[in-house]
Amino acid sequence: MTWMDMTESEIREATAALGVPSFRAAQISDWLKKGVRPSEMSNLPKSLREKMAAVPFGGATIFRKYVSAKDGTVKYLFALEDDNLVEGVLMRYSYGNTVCLSTQIGCNMGCKFCASTLNGCVRNLRPGEMLSFLAEIERDEPPKDGKSRTITNIVLMGSGEPLDNYDNVVTFLKRVTSPDGPNISARNISVSTCGIVPKIYRFMEDAPHVTLSISLHAPSDEIRSSVMPINKAYPIGEVLASAKAYADRTGRRVVFEYALIGETNDSHADAIALAKRLKGMLCHVNLIPLNPVKERGLKGVSREHAYQFCEWLNREHISATVRREMGADIDGACGQLRRRVLNELNG
Ligand code: SAH
Repeated sequence: MTWMDMTESEIREATAALGVPSFRAAQISDWLKKGVRPSEMSNLPKSLREKMAAVPFGGATIFRKYVSAKDGTVKYLFALEDDNLVEGVLMRYSYGNTVCLSTQIGCNMGCKFCASTLNGCVRNLRPGEMLSFLAEIERDEPPKDGKSRTITNIVLMGSGEPLDNYDNVVTFLKRVTSPDGPNISARNISVSTCGIVPKIYRFMEDAPHVTLSISLHAPSDEIRSSVMPINKAYPIGEVLASAKAYADRTGRRVVFEYALIGETNDSHADAIALAKRLKGMLCHVNLIPLNPVKERGLKGVSREHAYQFCEWLNREHISATVRREMGADIDGACGQLRRRVLNELNG
C-alpha cells in the first residue's frame, strides 16, 4: 500500500501504526488529496515526515510538459516512482477543462493503429497514481477567474485498456467522484474500452453513471478483426449487444469511437453497413480521422473525407460528429509522446 492509494480510514490506521498523534492524520490526509508528497508537507515536524518515508508515496511527478500554441492543450509526461513514464492531457473547452488519463503503462490489446500497444503492457496503474495525475495537473495549472478547480471532466482515453485494469479503475472512479475526494461528477467522466464484453456487463453495475465509449472502428467482423485483435474474442455483434444493454440499463447513450483509416473502413459502403448495425440504438458516433503512427503503416483520411463520412451516417439518421482536433502541434495519438521521449532518452 502507498500513501496515495489509501482511503482516509487507511491513512488513520497507517499513521497510528507509526505512532503519530491522530490530529496529524487529518493534516496528512488533506495534503495527500492535493497530491503532495510527505517531504513537502510543510506543517508537519521533520521527524514525522521522515517517519512517513517508511511507506512509499505512490504518486507521480511532471517529467515533461508541452503546451499547444494553437489551443492551449497541455500534454504531460508523468514520471512514476519506479521511473516509468506515462501520458496525460489537459484540454480546454468552453464548458470546462477535460483531462485525458492513462490507465496502464502500455497496453496488451494490440490494436493495429495504436502506438500505446507497440511494446505491450508494462504494468497497471494504481488508483493513487491516477489521482496523483489529477492533483499534479491542478497544481500545475491552478484555477482561473475565481473558479474552484481547473479540471471539470475526465476521460479515461489515454494509454491502456481501462477494463483490463478493472479493479483499479473502478476504485479510482469511486474515489474521484467522492465528496471526500476530487468530487467530480460521474456524468462528467467517460471511460473508453476496446470492447471486453464480460467486463462491460460488470462495469454497468459498478459504474452506471459514467459515460461508456466503445472503440468500434469498423462495421463488420472482417474489418474489425483485421485492426483490433480483441474482436476475435468478442465479435462485433456481442459488443453491440453489450452496448445496447448498457443504454437500456443506464438510460445513457453509448458513444462509439470510429477512427477513419484510409482504404480500410472509410468507404460509403462502410458507412451504410455501420448505420444498418446501429439503427435504433441510443448512441452517438465519434469520428476520428486516424492519426497515422509511423510504425503502423496505416493511412489517415482528410478532415473533408471525415465530414463526408459523417454526412453519410447522418443521412441514415445516425447521430455522428467529427472529433475536434486538439493539440495537433504538440504530438498526436495515444502513446506517441511517451514513445518519442523514451527513444530520445535511450539515444
Ligand atoms: N483502450 C481504450 C482507450 C484507448 S484510447 C480503447 O480502446 O477504447 C482512446 C481512443 O483512441 C480509442 O478509440 C483508440 O482506438 C483511439 N486511437 C488509438 N490510436 C489512434 C490513432 N493512431 N488515431 C486515432 N485514434 C486512435
